Amino acid sequence: MTLSVGVIGTGMIGRDHIRRLTRVLSGVTIAAVSDIDRERAADAAPEGAEVFDTPQALIRSDKVQAVVICSWGPAHEEQLLDCIAAGKPVFCEKPLVTSEDAALRVMQAELAHGRRLVQVGFMRRFDADYRRLKAVLDGGSLGAPLMMHSVHRNASVPEGLYTSDMPLNDTLVHDADIARWLLDDEVAGVEVRVPRRSTRGKDLRDPVLVLLHMASGVIVDVEISVNIAYGYDIRGEVSCETGVAALPDRPATVVSDRHGIRREIPADWRERFIEAYDQEFREWIVAAANGTATGPSTWDGYAATLVGDAALRAVDSGTREAIRMIEQPGLYARPAAMAAE
Ligand code: NAP
Repeated sequence: MTLSVGVIGTGMIGRDHIRRLTRVLSGVTIAAVSDIDRERAADAAPEGAEVFDTPQALIRSDKVQAVVICSWGPAHEEQLLDCIAAGKPVFCEKPLVTSEDAALRVMQAELAHGRRLVQVGFMRRFDADYRRLKAVLDGGSLGAPLMMHSVHRNASVPEGLYTSDMPLNDTLVHDADIARWLLDDEVAGVEVRVPRRSTRGKDLRDPVLVLLHMASGVIVDVEISVNIAYGYDIRGEVSCETGVAALPDRPATVVSDRHGIRREIPADWRERFIEAYDQEFREWIVAAANGTATGPSTWDGYAATLVGDAALRAVDSGTREAIRMIEQPGLYARPAAMAAE
C-alpha cells in the first residue's frame, strides 16, 4: 500500500522532506501541499500533488491519509489538533508546540483519541551513531552513566529571524531530547551560564552553556554555539562508572591533500543528519500506514518544551530552575522491547 501524504509548510525543511519523500523513500506519495504563501507551495509541489489554500482543507481532504507539518512552531498546535480530530497520523517537525499549555492540549486530544497519532521530528534518535551509543549504554558494560557532554555548534543562523531566546527554546530541544532518550531519564532542573559573547552573533546571546540535571542525578552539559563559522559540529560523550562512550568523529572519511590531513565538517543539519532524516521517515511511513505513530511522541515534545521554558527562566534567574512534569500517561510509556528504538 502507498501512503498518501499532505505536507504543510514548504520552506527550507519542508522542501527537503518533499525531496526525500518523493526521491529517496518508497511506499509513500505526496498528494497535497499547503503553505501560508500559496505560490511557494505551488513551486514546491511535486507532480500530481494538489495545492491547498489552507492547512485545514489539506488535513480534511480524502486524498490525504497522513500529514507532515513543517510550518513554523506557533502554527503547530492548531494543525496538530486538526490532524488528531481527523484521526490522521501526523509527523510534526520540532518544536511540537511553543508552550506547556499547548503541549498539554495536544496530549489531551491524543489521549481522548486513544491511540498515538503524533511523531515529533527529533531525528537524532534515528542516527546510526546515536543508536550505537545507546546500545552500548543499555548493554550496561560501562556501569551507570554519571555525566554527559553534548556539543551543538552551528556555522551561522539567519540574522533577524533567529533571536536570542532560540539557543535555549529552539536549538537546545535536540540536546535535551537525545539526553532523555540515551539515558532513559527525565530532566529535573536546568541551569544556564553565559560566557563571553561571540562578536559574530551581533545582539545574540551566543554561546551558552546549559546544565541539565537529570532525575537520576546525571548532569548533562551542553555547549550551544550558533555562529561558530567552521561548520555544523555535533558531539556527544557519556562518562560512566567504568568507561566512556562517545559519538565517532563525523564524517569518518579522512582527506589528505596539499593542505594537510583533515575531516571535512558538515555545512549544516541537512548534511550531518541526512541518513537520520531518511530513517525517521522510513519508520514513520510504516507506522502511519497502520494508522498510528511510533518514535518521539507528544510526551517527548512536552518534555522538550518544559526544558526550553526552564532554560529561559534560568538565564534570567541565574540559578537552577526546576521542571515539574505531569504523571506520564500510559499511552506514552515505552515498552521494554523498544528501549533501543
Ligand atoms: P521556514 O523555511 O521558515 O519554512 C516554514 C514554512 O512554513 C514557510 O514557508 C512559512 O511561511 C510557512 N508557514 C508559516 N506558518 C504557516 C501556517 N500557519 N500554515 C502554513 N504554512 C505556514 O522554516 P524551516 O527552517 O523550514 O522550519 C520549519 C519547521 O521545521 C520549524 O518548526 C523548525 O523548528 C523545524 N526544523 C527542524 C529541523 C530539525 O533538525 N529537525 C531543522 C530545521 C527546521 P512564511 O515564511 O511566509 O512564514
